[in-house]
Amino acid sequence: MTRFEDERKEMIALLRKRGIKDELLLKAFQNVEREQFVLPAFVNRAYDDSALPIAHGQTISQPYTVAFQTEKLQAGKDSKILEIGTGSGYQAAILAEMGCRVFTIERHMELHLQARRLLEKLGYHVASRCGDGTVGWSEYAPYNGIIVTAAAPEVPQPLLDQLADGGRIVIPVGDLDTQSIRIIRKVGDRYESVDARGFKFVPLIGKEGWNGK
Ligand code: SAH
Repeated sequence: MTRFEDERKEMIALLRKRGIKDELLLKAFQNVEREQFVLPAFVNRAYDDSALPIAHGQTISQPYTVAFQTEKLQAGKDSKILEIGTGSGYQAAILAEMGCRVFTIERHMELHLQARRLLEKLGYHVASRCGDGTVGWSEYAPYNGIIVTAAAPEVPQPLLDQLADGGRIVIPVGDLDTQSIRIIRKVGDRYESVDARGFKFVPLIGKEGWNGK
């Protein structure tokens, strides 16, 4: 067994210990090579349960945060999922590995291109584009799930509008220091929401995010 396989098993054991139960999700964590998504200087720490720097002062989220957000999305095979904040592409790869149809948006061109190339190289079919994800991606709406991986001051209205009935948005909301992950479920013309406290993300910057209004 290679070193990374060992470390990946340990990461999954830790995720189980911290309460992650979705077997489809845990299997995806088993199959996606996280070491491919971090900068060369951080390969030795690829399986630490921590966020790591990527280009442009951004971060690849901590494994537990990726697992927590994905589990709350309740995505399954063939779910149509929109991700805002492609970053390294790791979260998108996890969703693709679970069998979701993934659409992802990144505002930094360099990160967008790198992630697109890597996802292609690894054989993941993900639709990606560079732009401001706070306005969503209306051409392919509605989505069964929308996952935002950067912190918003409030939930962007276009994302609520692009959610399918019964679908969920998982989005960090708060100030620039700490945020809660808000899980919103659309039921008919109502939205139900719960918050999970104590997470930290890079800011969501855009028309309906920070610096926008
Ligand atoms: N999901 C990523 C996490 C990246 S961090 C991963 O698995 O690695 C969040 C990303 O959101 C950053 O790359 C940042 O550039 C991006 N971002 C911030 N505001 C955005 C916006 N309005 N639209 C799209 N991407 C945005």
